[in-house]
Amino acid sequence: MAEFVWFLIVLLTLCVASYKRLGLVNTIALTAGVMIIGTLFGDIGWLGWLVFLALAIPLGVSDIRKTHITKKLLAFYKKVMPEMSRTEQEAIDAGTVWWDGDIFSGKPDWDKLHGIPKGRLTPEEQAFLDGPVEEVCGMVDEWEINHKLADMPPEIWEFLKKHKFFAMIIKKKYGGLEFSAYAQSRVLQKLAGTSAVLSSTVGVPNSLGPGELLGHYGTKEQQDYYLPRLASGEEIPCFALTGPEAGSDAGAIPDVGVVCKGEWKGEEILGMRLTFDKRYITLAPVATVIGLAFKLQDPDGLLGDNADLGITCALIPRDTKGLDIGRRHFPLNTPFQNGPIRGEDIFVPLDYIIGGQKMAGQGWRMLVECLSVGRCITLPSTAAGGAKTCALATGAYARIRRQFRLPVGKMEGVEEMLARIGGNAYLMDAVTRFSTVGVDLGEKPSVVSAICKYHLTEKMRQVINDAMDVHGGKGIMLGPNNYLGRAYEGAPISITVEGANILTRNMMIFGQGAMRCHPYVLKEIEAAAKEDRQEQLDDFDKAVFGHIGFALSNKVRSLWFAFTSNYFSSAPFSDDTARYYKLLKGYSANLAFMTDVSMGVLGGDLKRKERLSARLGDVLSGIYLASATLKRYDEEGRLQEDAPMMHWALQTTLFDIETAIIDFLDNFPSRPVALAMKAIIIPFGRRCEKPSDRLEHKIANILQQPSAARARLGDGQYLSREEGSLFGDLEQTLDNVLKCEPVFERICKEKGQKLPFTRLDKLADEALSDGIINDDEAALMRETEAGRLRTINVDDFDHEELIAASAKKQKGKSAA
Ligand SMILES: Cc1cc2nc3c(=O)[nH]c(=O)nc-3n(C[C@H](O)[C@H](O)[C@H](O)COP(=O)(O)OP(=O)(O)OC[C@H]3O[C@@H](n4cnc5c(N)ncnc54)[C@H](O)[C@@H]3O)c2cc1C
Repeated sequence: MAEFVWFLIVLLTLCVASYKRLGLVNTIALTAGVMIIGTLFGDIGWLGWLVFLALAIPLGVSDIRKTHITKKLLAFYKKVMPEMSRTEQEAIDAGTVWWDGDIFSGKPDWDKLHGIPKGRLTPEEQAFLDGPVEEVCGMVDEWEINHKLADMPPEIWEFLKKHKFFAMIIKKKYGGLEFSAYAQSRVLQKLAGTSAVLSSTVGVPNSLGPGELLGHYGTKEQQDYYLPRLASGEEIPCFALTGPEAGSDAGAIPDVGVVCKGEWKGEEILGMRLTFDKRYITLAPVATVIGLAFKLQDPDGLLGDNADLGITCALIPRDTKGLDIGRRHFPLNTPFQNGPIRGEDIFVPLDYIIGGQKMAGQGWRMLVECLSVGRCITLPSTAAGGAKTCALATGAYARIRRQFRLPVGKMEGVEEMLARIGGNAYLMDAVTRFSTVGVDLGEKPSVVSAICKYHLTEKMRQVINDAMDVHGGKGIMLGPNNYLGRAYEGAPISITVEGANILTRNMMIFGQGAMRCHPYVLKEIEAAAKEDRQEQLDDFDKAVFGHIGFALSNKVRSLWFAFTSNYFSSAPFSDDTARYYKLLKGYSANLAFMTDVSMGVLGGDLKRKERLSARLGDVLSGIYLASATLKRYDEEGRLQEDAPMMHWALQTTLFDIETAIIDFLDNFPSRPVALAMKAIIIPFGRRCEKPSDRLEHKIANILQQPSAARARLGDGQYLSREEGSLFGDLEQTLDNVLKCEPVFERICKEKGQKLPFTRLDKLADEALSDGIINDDEAALMRETEAGRLRTINVDDFDHEELIAASAKKQKGKSAA
C-alpha cells in the first residue's frame, strides 16, 4: 500500500514538474529527490529505482539520448514530413509571431497583453479625421455614386487626391501622410460607415500595392520617382495578381515575362516580354501605374543559370504600348473601380521590376510579407466601421419604428438581433484597435492578419444581415434614403478579396499558425533541414525533446483545466472578467495539446484535413478575439456601462471555442485517440453558456438609448447632423422621439385615450389649442413627426427613372 502511495507521489511530482515546465534535467532531479525521501521512509525499493534509472539515464544523458533516441526520431521525422513548396515556405517565412505565439504557448501571459500600449492618434491624425475625413463623408451622396454615376463624382476624386487620402502609408519625405496603422484604421472605419465605394477606393492604394511594395523594396530611383507622384495623387495605383486561371491559388499564375533583348526608346536593351491576363483588379480602370505579378523566365540565360526565376513584381505605366486596360467589372452593385487588364508580348525594361533586377523572382515573398500587414488593416477596419455605424443606425431605427404600438426594438425577437449587432460591433472595434497597434509596434503578424480578415468580414456579414432583418422593408427598398441595402449587397466582396474566406479559415489560420506560432514545430523543420550532421542532431534533439515536454505539459494543463475549470489559477483582475482569463488559459492549453496530438497522429495528412484544421483555427482565433476584447475593456477603464457588450463578446466567443473543440473531437478520424483526447480536454461536456436573454436585453437597450456607452460603440463614425446626413438624421430623430414621448404620454393622459404614436404634428396642434402643451413642445412634436416619417418612409420611382441611363439612351436611339 505504502509503495502505491509513493508511486502516486512520484506521478504527482512528474505532473507538477510538467505543469510548471521545469525541463528534462530539473524534472529528473526533482523526481530523484522525491525518490530519495521515499527510500529513506523505506517505501521505495530497488525495483522503483531500477525503473527510474531505466528511464532517467537514456533521457537525461545527452549523448545516450541523441545516439539511441533522437537519431531514430529524426529519421522517422524526415520520412513522414511532407515536402514544402517554395510558395508555402515563403508564406511561412513571412511575417512575425506576436500575441498568436502566446496563444499557442498553452499559458498566455496576461501581463504582456495588458502591457501592450493603447492605440493613440497624433494631433495631426486626429485633425485629419476631424477635417478632411469628416468633410468627404459629408460630400458623399451614395445614391448618386451607386445608382447614377457608377463612380464617385470628380469633386470627390479631386478632394481625395488633394488631401492625400491615397498616401496614408507613404513616408513624409516623399510627400505622404505617414500615418500609423491605427490611424489608417480609424480613417477607413469612418469612411466605411459612410460609403463602401469611398472606403474601398481609399483602402486599396494604402494596402497591398505599388505604394507599399515600393516603400519596402523599390530602388532609390523608383522610390524618388513614384512615391511623390503617388502621394500627390498624380499617379493612381493598382495591383494585378489574380487572373482567370489563378484566384486562390495565386502562386499558379500562368502570366509570364520572358527575359530578352529588345528596342526601347531607340536603343537595344535587356528587358522582358510580358503576356498576362488579369481580372478583378481594383482601381485598374482608372489606374495610371500597374503593379503586375508574373513568372519571370530566362530561357537564354541572359541573367544567369536560373531559367525559371519565379514570381516577380513590376510597375507598368498605363501608357505602355499594348496594355489593354479600362474596361470595368460591376462588383455586386458597389461600383468602385475594378476591372481586367491584359497584355500580349509587351516589351518593357528590366528596370521596371520593383527593386530592380536583384528582386527578380522575389515577388511572392514581397507579396506575402506586405499582405501580412495590409490584411490586418484595410478589410478588418472597413468591416468594423460598417458594423459600428450599423449598430447605431439599427438601434435608432428600432426605437423609432413602432408596430403593435411599441418600438420594434422592444420586442424580444428583435432584441436578439440588436444584441448580436452591438456585441459584434464592440468586439470588432476591439480587434482592429489591438491588431493595428501590433502593426505599429513593428509586427508583421501574418497569422493575426488572417484571423482579423476572416472573422471581421464574417462578423460584418452577420451584422448587416441582422440589421437588414430589423429594418424589414425599409432596408430592402433601394433609393436615396436607403442606408443599408448596398452594404448588404456588397458584403460578399470583402469575404472574397485578399484571400477568400473559406480558404483563409480552412488552410491559412491554423496552417500557418501551427507552423509559425508553435514554439517547436518550425525549430524542428529548421533543424531537420540543416546540412551539418552534428548540428542537425543537436538542434533536432533540443527541439524534439522541448516539443515532447511541451506536449506533456499541455496534457497535464488540460487535465487540470478539465477537473477544476482553472478555478484556482491566477487572473490579472479579480472582478467578473477573472473567469474569462482562466477559461482562455485552459483553452490555450487545449489548443496546444490538440495540435500536437493531431500532428503526431495525422502528420502531413493534417494539411489535407481542412475541416479539422479550420476548427483548430477557430480555437486559435477565438482566443485572439477574446484577448482583444478583454484588452479594450481594460483600456477604456473597465466601465460598467460597457460591460454588457464585453460580456456578450466573451461569452459568445468562449461558446464558439468550445463548439470548435467539440466538433474537432467528434470528427477526429481516429476514434480511440479522439475519445482519449475528450477524456482529457472536456470529459464533463460544455462549461460555457451562450449569453442570456437578460444580457441581450441590456445591449438592445444600450443601442436604443443615447448614452456614453452607445457613443463609445460608435466612436469616430460619421454621425454629423448636417442636412443630408442619413445617419445624423436618425440620431437626431432618436433624440427627438425620446424627448417627445413624455409629452405624448401627458397628452394621452389628459385626453384619457391611448393614442397611436403617429401624426404627431396634428396632435401637437390639437394639444396646443387645448392648452395641454406649450409652443416649444408643439415644435418638438412637429420636428419629431417629420424625422419619424423620414425614418420610416422609403423611396418610390417612376418606371422610367429605374431604367439604366444606357438602356434609356438605347431606347431613345431605336425610337428615333
Ligand atoms: C471585388 C474584388 C476585388 C479584387 N481586387 C483584386 C486586386 O485588386 N488585385 C488582385 O490581384 N486580385 C483582386 N481580387 C481577387 C481576389 O483576391 C480573388 O478573387 C480571391 O483570391 C479568390 O479567387 P477567385 O475569386 O478566383 O476564387 P477561387 O479561387 O475560384 O475560389 C472559389 C472558392 O473556393 C475556395 N477555395 C479555393 N481553394 C481552396 C482550398 N484549398 N481550400 C478551401 N477552399 C478553397 C475559395 O475560398 C473560394 O470560396 C479581387 C476580387 C474581387 C471579387
